[in-house]
Amino acid sequence: MKILETIFSVKNQDIHKVITICGIKIKLKSKKLEAKQRELLINDKIESLNKEISDLKCQNNKLKSDAICTKNQIMLSLKRRTPQPELKSIAVHLVDHCNLRCCGCDHFAPLAQKRFEEPDIFEKDIKRFAELSGAKLGTLKLMGGEPLLHPQLTDFMRISRHYLPDTRIEVVTNAILLNLQKESFWNACKEYDIVIVPTKYPLKTNYEKAEKTAESYGVKLEYYGNTNSVLKTSYHIPLDLDGKQDAVNNFLNCFHANNCVFLKQGKLYTCTVAPNINQFNKFFNKDIPLSERDGIDIHKAQNIDEILEFLSKPIPFCRYCNVNGRTFGHEWGVSKKEIEEWI
Ligand code: SF4
Ligand code: SF4
Repeated sequence: MKILETIFSVKNQDIHKVITICGIKIKLKSKKLEAKQRELLINDKIESLNKEISDLKCQNNKLKSDAICTKNQIMLSLKRRTPQPELKSIAVHLVDHCNLRCCGCDHFAPLAQKRFEEPDIFEKDIKRFAELSGAKLGTLKLMGGEPLLHPQLTDFMRISRHYLPDTRIEVVTNAILLNLQKESFWNACKEYDIVIVPTKYPLKTNYEKAEKTAESYGVKLEYYGNTNSVLKTSYHIPLDLDGKQDAVNNFLNCFHANNCVFLKQGKLYTCTVAPNINQFNKFFNKDIPLSERDGIDIHKAQNIDEILEFLSKPIPFCRYCNVNGRTFGHEWGVSKKEIEEWI
């Protein structure tokens, strides 16, 4: 066989057939091999083009999602800077303190001293707001701190419903005391059409029992964030003690701004952070200033438009927030009352 191969052989080489006869090599171009070679080259090209297309598709998807994010961000900023046609919600503290101490609470409740809102002052303010707005308000949030700690809670329900007949009125609670409420509480919730809004915390609260009690009294109970499965997480909403932040940028990028409107002793604020800074200042012996211009006195305002306009603008306090430094979704925990939770 070997001898035969040295006399005559045919081998493929690239696109050639190499015929060897008695050691003499003859190189012939093979159309078949040429076609095969071309096919291989084309396949390689197709493969590399497919890869390029898939890379471009990925880049395109990323650009699209970045564009959507930017568009949403711009829309949100515009929304914050646009006066609301009528106020979507107002939150009010019935008490400043709380029976739960959530790490980094942006109402500063873990640091707060006991303070109970007076029904008379609340009535004066709600009455004035109703006069100015024609009783137009989406939601009134009776909260804190923990509102169930207020012994006159049902008075606040009555007053709220009297002046705001068409408003959704919520008691926003951590639910710890919900199963201890007396019949008078549930009857008042029913009578004044109050929605109980508990937040689910990783605690041993018997939520099912509270749901059943609410149902038996015909009272609406809806979990915070519209879900009954999400457990509370923590966030870090840092302050800038030196007030060196850009107030306008902060306002435009802040989820509180013109969104978490807060009523405190005759004044409306665009957020919950500024009006409660006194708790932080007192506890840590700091002096972040809250100026006259940080809130609008509803008893001095001429009309609702003046208020809505005010709430859609940055306030001097905005420079004391570090909005870029905010982080969310941390595991929920109890506050150690250390300043690092707020700076
Ligand atoms: S329950 Fe937590 S987040 Fe709510 S007020 Fe109390 S401490 Fe703050
Ligand atoms: S003061 Fe802070 S929390 Fe309030 S609107 Fe300005 S940036 Fe937001």
